[in-house]
Amino acid sequence: MTAESFAARHIGPDPDDVRRMLETVGYASLDELMDAAIPEVIRWHGTLDLPEAATEQQAIAELRALATRNTVAVSMIGLGYYGTHTPAVIRRNVLENPAWYTAYTPYQPEISQGRLEALLNFQTMVTDLTGLATANASMLDEATAAAEAMTLARRASKVKAPVYVVDADTLPQTISVIATRAEPLGIEVRVLDLDTEPLPDEFFGLHLQYPGASGAVRDHAGLVDSAHAAGALVTVAADLLALTLLRAPGEIGADIAAGTTQRFGVPMGFGGPHAGYLAVRAGLERMLPGRLVGVSKDADGARAYRLALQTREQHIRREKATSNICTAQVLLAVMAGMYAVYHGPEGLRAIAARTHERAARLAAGLRAGGVTVAHANFFDTVTAVVPGRAAEVVAAAAARGINLLAVDADRVGIACDETTTDPHLGAVWAAFGVPEFTGEAPTALPAALARATDYLTHPVFHAHRSETAMLRYLRRLADYDYALDRGMIPLGSCTMKLNATTEMEAVTWPEFANLHPFAPAEQTAGYRELVESLQGWLAEVTGYDAVSVQPNAGSQGELAGLLAIRAYHRDRGEGHRDVCLIPSSAHGTNAASAVMAGMKVVVVACDAEGNVDPVDLDRTIEAHRDALAAIMVTYPSTHGVYETGIASLCAKVHDAGGQVYVDGANLNALVGFAKPGRFGADVSHLNLHKTFCIPHGGGGPGVGPVAVRAHLAPFLPGDPLGAATSGDGRPVISAAAHGSAGILPIPWAYLRMMGAEGLARATGVAVLAANYVASRLREHYPVLYSGNKGLVAHECILDLRPLTKATGVSVDDVAKRLIDYGFHAPTMSFPVAGTLMVEPTESEDLTELDRFCDAMIAIRAEIDRVGSGEWPAGDNPLVNAPHTAAMVSGDDWEHAYPRSVAAYPTGVDRLAKYWPPVRRIDGAFGDRNLVCACPPPEAFAD
Ligand SMILES: *Cc1c(COP(=O)(O)O)cnc(C)c1O
Repeated sequence: MTAESFAARHIGPDPDDVRRMLETVGYASLDELMDAAIPEVIRWHGTLDLPEAATEQQAIAELRALATRNTVAVSMIGLGYYGTHTPAVIRRNVLENPAWYTAYTPYQPEISQGRLEALLNFQTMVTDLTGLATANASMLDEATAAAEAMTLARRASKVKAPVYVVDADTLPQTISVIATRAEPLGIEVRVLDLDTEPLPDEFFGLHLQYPGASGAVRDHAGLVDSAHAAGALVTVAADLLALTLLRAPGEIGADIAAGTTQRFGVPMGFGGPHAGYLAVRAGLERMLPGRLVGVSKDADGARAYRLALQTREQHIRREKATSNICTAQVLLAVMAGMYAVYHGPEGLRAIAARTHERAARLAAGLRAGGVTVAHANFFDTVTAVVPGRAAEVVAAAAARGINLLAVDADRVGIACDETTTDPHLGAVWAAFGVPEFTGEAPTALPAALARATDYLTHPVFHAHRSETAMLRYLRRLADYDYALDRGMIPLGSCTMKLNATTEMEAVTWPEFANLHPFAPAEQTAGYRELVESLQGWLAEVTGYDAVSVQPNAGSQGELAGLLAIRAYHRDRGEGHRDVCLIPSSAHGTNAASAVMAGMKVVVVACDAEGNVDPVDLDRTIEAHRDALAAIMVTYPSTHGVYETGIASLCAKVHDAGGQVYVDGANLNALVGFAKPGRFGADVSHLNLHKTFCIPHGGGGPGVGPVAVRAHLAPFLPGDPLGAATSGDGRPVISAAAHGSAGILPIPWAYLRMMGAEGLARATGVAVLAANYVASRLREHYPVLYSGNKGLVAHECILDLRPLTKATGVSVDDVAKRLIDYGFHAPTMSFPVAGTLMVEPTESEDLTELDRFCDAMIAIRAEIDRVGSGEWPAGDNPLVNAPHTAAMVSGDDWEHAYPRSVAAYPTGVDRLAKYWPPVRRIDGAFGDRNLVCACPPPEAFAD
């Protein structure tokens, strides 16, 4: 590693800093520290077999070469993915803007008002267009949203029969994901052609696509009534653009709407990431999975936003879990919401009308040329019937640079969108061998289904039409928020490290951004090579034999891994194995995923040192020996410790016939030093949005690859368009084969530029940084757990409980006071209530690490002043934190401490002060008075 290498830019502390930090921790070298920290039983002493580190310039050149091997054709494939014009002001100022993309999930709402407002816009857009009461702040894609809708219907319906009916005119990838999710839960999916086949007598839910995958627009009102009469809930998977012209699902009594917001300005990206949506009618909001933004008030009674119903982090509550979704698609939801803000209702309606007019003209031209068009009523997609000629027509269109969909040998699907032009229509007609059509075409939207209700009436969808206004709105919201572009985000478990600009660069290149996931293979060679190299490198890093990048979040990787274990046991005739052991310290998604994979969760206790309790482990293994399917452990543990018992744990579980799942979210403490696939695990998921530099985006996107040893490889995720619609096929985890392919250039570039040596050094410095923080803070706050020689791994837990007990100052108070000092809080009360978990990562330089430690030490001194009675428990800078500019500049100041202490505590640079826009937020108030859409402007009056 040289001074010019990328690794030297990625890793914050320079060699001098590293020496000083080592001195504080008490080791002579990084090697010595790592030898002491990492148990020898898991230690791997080789050098990763990766290409030699590229410079930033070389990596960009290689990405350019891959990009040129992708062909950007005009996509008229449809099937849930459409061309769209990303407004440049949104592309540059959201998608390419670190103020938006480096933000964390808005768990600290006081420093997240900008993205919370943007997400509230998104929720309002979805509820308005669908005509339903409440929408969440995004799902991973349309297919998984539809699967979540199914399980929601199962919970809400009183019908006993486990039958779920799916309209045959549903997107095929949605059917695949629904089938995968249904099978372990004992749900029987019946795909019926509802034009001809009757509904069964008993079923708990019905899934309809609107418009259908074929493009057909049907009046579903009768089906909704029949389903309700049978006690079933109805989900309508609806296209939001079509809903600007068509009657909303809520108006015909649909209970749930699900879908994607991709065509609202989010590039196709070869499958993702895009924000899925899920909306429900009144009465179901407390069953909604995912994160929900709600309106509440702050300590001054001012309006403030925060995640609603968080005390349940609702759905992912361990064995009672109903869903495992955690990381969602926040950045993309922000983009889609802003697309609606920029265009407003008239603009969206005009885009929809133009799209429809082209489809109508396309159909008229085909009919005029003697081609049969399958449906009289459609929005944007025309199915043409050309007996025996589909392949030939598709090839002729491809020769003209246009991708169409060969539905089968006899039918061709053609989807129009915002980007469709007259020359495109001309090329399609030519491919069919029909003449250009120049006449007027009648509308193909049924008059009875015309939209009669308003939407997007809120002022936010009317006030930002000029680019100047939009630019300033985006800037204003970004300025409310604290992201990595302002300072350190020391979040345990989430690895908020540098998202280098070079890593981000290729994401918005058209050759990566504008490919349809079902584009012909010969047009996607560059993408496929990128995916293959990335999967290979991740296999090398983890020691596994095969990797799939299909899961689009860690939670989805967990589900994929557990489904692989399930399929493996069944394949060996041991399908009865269904018990999954999970330590009490585990991340909530683990148990939730196990439940979704049809497993029974059995909790294993942790001992006083925070390790998996070996006695309880033996006991639970013994008690469930014959039924043991798997154990799921996080390594290093969520307590931030390299547990020495891991190898024997793996052996014991294997002995009993179980499989070992290692949650790889903490891989930042292992890369280059230990390989889960080598120390006894069978399967892991990784979080590329943690360890491998995909930015958090304010709560997504993510990529959660699943990595397995060879015996599980046959059960890795399969093709969403393949035949995997029954339990014995490969599971389908996401709508697109490579999930959120559009952001894979980021981890690719990271691995390519770091090389083996850079990666190992990053791990060493990450562990050093955590131990440095632990060393500096230990005398001020007890470090809860440590392992070998008193060392922690890549994060440390600071125990506030004794201080809270003595002084009343809570972990919340410290977290909020850190805002006044210019920091994002560490992880609060996970995995242990009343503690803070700090993960500094390798990217923060020594100056920033010291600034953080100094702030924590200064806060400790403040706590002592409360403890000594100098400051009253009810009025001190901690309990009143964070302080807004309005508060400290107010005409009255009657607090027990001066304004300067409130606003500029020790060490705060007056020129770089971050001012939170609101004071401490009252979450409970908002939960009691649940409001999850933009409040009317009158509500702002007071
Ligand atoms: C982040 C995390 C997960 C979940 O990952 P998502 O991408 O948010 O779904 C699972 N386990 C652990 C330990 C994590 O830190």
